[in-house]
Amino acid sequence: MSSAAPSADAEASVPNSPREGVLSGPVSVCVDRPRLSLDRPFTYELGSELGAGIGSLVQVPFHGRLVRAWVLGPTDDVPERVLTVRGLVSPVRFFDDRRLELFRRMSERYVAPLATVIGRAVPPRIASEEREVTPSRSAGGRPRSEGPVGAYRHGGALLDALADGDGTFVLRPGPADEAAAAVGCVGAALGGGRTAIVVVPDAEPLPAAAAAIAEAFGQDAVLFLGGDKRERYRMWLDIAAGRYRVVVGTRPAVFAPLRDVGLVYVHQEGHPQHRDERSPSYHARDVAAMRGEVEGAVVVLSAFCPSLEASSREHVLVEPSARPWAPVEVVRPGPEGRSPRLIRALREAARAFLFEPVRGYGVARVCRACGEPAACASCRGMLRLERGSIRCVVCEAPGRCASCGASDFGVVRRGAERVEEWARSVVSVAVSLLEREDDARPVGEREVLVGGLDALKDLGPQDLDLVGILNADASLHRPGVDARERALTAWFEAAAWARRDGRVIVQTNAPNDPAIQALVSGRPDRFHRAEAPRRAEAGFPVGAPVFRVTGGPELEGELHALSPRTLLVSGAEDATICLVVLDPAGLGTFGDAMRRLAVRGVVTRVEAEPHL
Ligand SMILES: [Zn+2]
Ligand SMILES: [Zn+2]
Repeated sequence: MSSAAPSADAEASVPNSPREGVLSGPVSVCVDRPRLSLDRPFTYELGSELGAGIGSLVQVPFHGRLVRAWVLGPTDDVPERVLTVRGLVSPVRFFDDRRLELFRRMSERYVAPLATVIGRAVPPRIASEEREVTPSRSAGGRPRSEGPVGAYRHGGALLDALADGDGTFVLRPGPADEAAAAVGCVGAALGGGRTAIVVVPDAEPLPAAAAAIAEAFGQDAVLFLGGDKRERYRMWLDIAAGRYRVVVGTRPAVFAPLRDVGLVYVHQEGHPQHRDERSPSYHARDVAAMRGEVEGAVVVLSAFCPSLEASSREHVLVEPSARPWAPVEVVRPGPEGRSPRLIRALREAARAFLFEPVRGYGVARVCRACGEPAACASCRGMLRLERGSIRCVVCEAPGRCASCGASDFGVVRRGAERVEEWARSVVSVAVSLLEREDDARPVGEREVLVGGLDALKDLGPQDLDLVGILNADASLHRPGVDARERALTAWFEAAAWARRDGRVIVQTNAPNDPAIQALVSGRPDRFHRAEAPRRAEAGFPVGAPVFRVTGGPELEGELHALSPRTLLVSGAEDATICLVVLDPAGLGTFGDAMRRLAVRGVVTRVEAEPHL
């Protein structure tokens, strides 16, 4: 390091204290140009009068224009001709050296420009909010219960690690313990003098676990979710100033500018909302693991049914020592998806939930005018009867026969609307259907609630008499590499709504399917053992990075030369599109190649972990 550059040690990482960690001399910067072909550091001369340090947003001349750039740190890589940093855009330090290390790992893992990663991880600045803030860390230290985790198998090891250690733990809370387990883990981290990040999949409705943490830690905790840009920026600055010890929020919370992080907790870790759809398409679970490594913190991946991805990592499994789940009964669906046993159980239940993943009242099977199988006239998609009208499930066009244009169909009745109808005819309590646009809500007193995936939010323990899981076979046969896993995760979440001595009845024609058996046993192990080889056979082994690469005609040959595990090529108009599956060890080489090919124009787009 040159003598012109003062130390950039841990003290330099207070984002709101521009007097500390001021750099001068040659520095490397990341220009705010989110393109792989420009994804490398550039060197500029920085004057100390700017007061800039690691994480400062500055202006630099770049290809004849002034562009914004983030200061990454001092550098020895000084070319002959070096331009000078022109100005400081903001007094705020947007990241410290640890979070920069996290961003670099993300850039490598997702083969995304560092500028893209930083752009996702730090909030857009609103200058008027950048006033001085006084850190007012509250004392904390209230004695708190460690929650149920202490009594779990390997729970002691988790609590010990939270105080002053690290490592990855997969936590399977009992259905009644989900929130208390999270509170206990956070408390243990705080008890060790460290801070905690809790990532939840959605903000609306507020997950019960998030509400419980906010309640338990009061002034020490902040809910970093929702709100407008100004509020979010204000909150981010307060977090950076050390005002809070616990940050609970949706995906971006994983980047929260806390220091002394002892715990990164991912709630319902398999939830699809934990993945960002925009580049760099990161998954909160993966970023949590990276942040845990960088910070020396404990990572807890929590779920009733841990994902294959979580289970395939090196981890310690923490779970109740005795089965906390209601017994699960398996029955054949019976006529029109109503088994006699389910009907009898419904009649005896005061509060019940019927999980029906298929919407609507039924599916058109045959055209009554011409006798041909029913299909959408516009796209040949499936036609569904929902709320009294028939529409295409693919293009949403009004239902018209593809053969003759008529709109009179024979309908096979199945779906949530039909379930609501027949449930009304068998029970004396109220029956409601949770429609797509309705907010998820708890089941009322003396009520049978019918709902699909949208109903399954973390609403806290529901203590129901009965949970019925309908149409299990349809869920298992949905398209997508992880469809079976998503089905099982949903069933576990539904089953968690039954009280310990209540009933769970699953209707299936495949009682020996490993997914069904996993639900019955209350453990996903058997499913994981069956599912992992199935994915490997399909060409997508668990834990193997997948990319969709778009580029020119040379692309296929270039990718082939990298010997990926799987390479599927398709063309669209003028572009070649390749699906690439890698060995994790090949990620670095692959990323270097993509950046080099982007400079040559052979690669135009790299998308990590596309939907399969
Ligand atoms: Zn259609
Ligand atoms: Zn017809």
